Amino acid sequence: MFLKLTFALTFIFAQTEMIAQNQLSLKARRFAPTDISADVSHLSAGDRQALTKLMEAAKLMDSIYLIQKWSGNMDLLAKLRKDESTEGKERLQYFLINMGPWSKLDHDEPFIDGIGPHPEGANYYPEDMSKDEFNAWIGTQSEARQRDATGYFTTVRRDENRKLVTVPYSTEYSVHLKQAAQLLREAAGLTDNATLRAFLSRRATAFLTNDYYDSDVAWMDLDSPVEPTIGPYEVYMDELFNYKAAFEAFITLRNDAETKKLEKFSSYLQEIEDNLPIDPKYRNPKLGALSPIRVVDEIMTGGESRPGVQTAAFNLPNDEKVTREKGSKRVLLRNVQEAKFNKILTPIAGIALEKTQQSLVGFEQFFTHILAHELMHGLGPNTITVDGRQTTVRKELKELGSAFEEAKADISGLFALQFLIDKGVIEKQFERRMYATYLAGAFRTVRFGTNDAHGKGMAMQFNFLIDEGGVRYNEATKAYSVNFEGIKDAARDLTHEIMTIQAEGSYVKAKAMLDKYGSIRMDMKGILERLDNLPVDIAPTFSLERAE
Ligand code: ZN
Repeated sequence: MFLKLTFALTFIFAQTEMIAQNQLSLKARRFAPTDISADVSHLSAGDRQALTKLMEAAKLMDSIYLIQKWSGNMDLLAKLRKDESTEGKERLQYFLINMGPWSKLDHDEPFIDGIGPHPEGANYYPEDMSKDEFNAWIGTQSEARQRDATGYFTTVRRDENRKLVTVPYSTEYSVHLKQAAQLLREAAGLTDNATLRAFLSRRATAFLTNDYYDSDVAWMDLDSPVEPTIGPYEVYMDELFNYKAAFEAFITLRNDAETKKLEKFSSYLQEIEDNLPIDPKYRNPKLGALSPIRVVDEIMTGGESRPGVQTAAFNLPNDEKVTREKGSKRVLLRNVQEAKFNKILTPIAGIALEKTQQSLVGFEQFFTHILAHELMHGLGPNTITVDGRQTTVRKELKELGSAFEEAKADISGLFALQFLIDKGVIEKQFERRMYATYLAGAFRTVRFGTNDAHGKGMAMQFNFLIDEGGVRYNEATKAYSVNFEGIKDAARDLTHEIMTIQAEGSYVKAKAMLDKYGSIRMDMKGILERLDNLPVDIAPTFSLERAE
């Protein structure tokens, strides 16, 4: 008995160890390896050479980002690269997916022995500095120095007397930034596009002077087949204060066909607004200029855009001085969306949708709905009057505002496309495909959870459409389908409900609606559990980078 038990225990231990070893490859398997590339044949010879320089510059963003993330990151990476064992290779692979020893999909849990939690201030501040110490310190500083200390483009360090000081990025990362500036200047010399030349040479200057304003303005004015985004941008990694920007790069090409489609839709926006299914008094008789949207294909990324879930769209710049004067630009990464569609949405449809409707799910419909979603953010109630005072939807709906706004853009996107189908602008055969694709997409969005604004907004739409008969669940097949007889009216009614609550600025009604519809119900839970083994996102490889 004793022997047997020992044997059994040994067996269990051996198994546990095996699981521990395999866990990293299981974690990595949540990202489907995918090649991301685009056709460069239409580019001028100069632009093609410039592209090569930009790809090199993007790689430098990797190095700066690794340093920004954690002071020990570069040493750890060097160590991981030397480990030739199978587990060592798995660790390296997963490190590269995350650009550090913390697993992004698992709330930044460390996955390498001996590594503690990710420092809240990343490597922007001394690791032993507390929030209180920082606040006490800036309280004693001049206004200009305070601006520096809380600015996007400085780190905070200790001097020889252990006092806090700020260091501009141009000094802190001077080795890499000088090389990057040189590459951008060379690229500027190679391109025949004046707006690209202007952006690249100003960005090169910014890397050396630490003043990014002029180059951000030039980025807004870019009108070029090659569309690079490179520099310090997002502040999420500074979990201490959200002050400091991480370096990243998106080297992309403008997609002319989709840009044309976008222009075509844009010309109908006022007409769509005039026909929104809301009380006419809530419609905007004269839409203002919308912020520009660019559709691009990704060639390569660098820095913060590499790790974890891949960015499929972004809105930049963040610097309020620039956005006040020039607005901001929305960039949609078409081929990244396509990769996600193929690797994730198609298999989701294979599980969640009734067999008869699976073949209706298409990328053209998926991406067109994304375009419509982005455009619809600019339509419907925004500045509103509540009890005689002028305010905004965002202010009145507070923390519910984002989920509502995302749901609005989704569902009114369907309404808008249906409007264009009925008008004959979009061909009729698009209709069924559009609704089936939307339904499959709902599962992808809800999978990210209802803590996320998109996820919560999508749960609300889904349950409303079920209750109103636009979507059906089949108990026997455990799958969902669009009810083509009901979906049109249900989408219209939901657009009406959401936009009316927004127009009234009613927090109470918004809360009631989210309470009623915004959670995941039993049937959907069952489907989501069956999606568990599908990849969550893609892990891109860039064939043009390798071809270099
Ligand atoms: Zn949105």
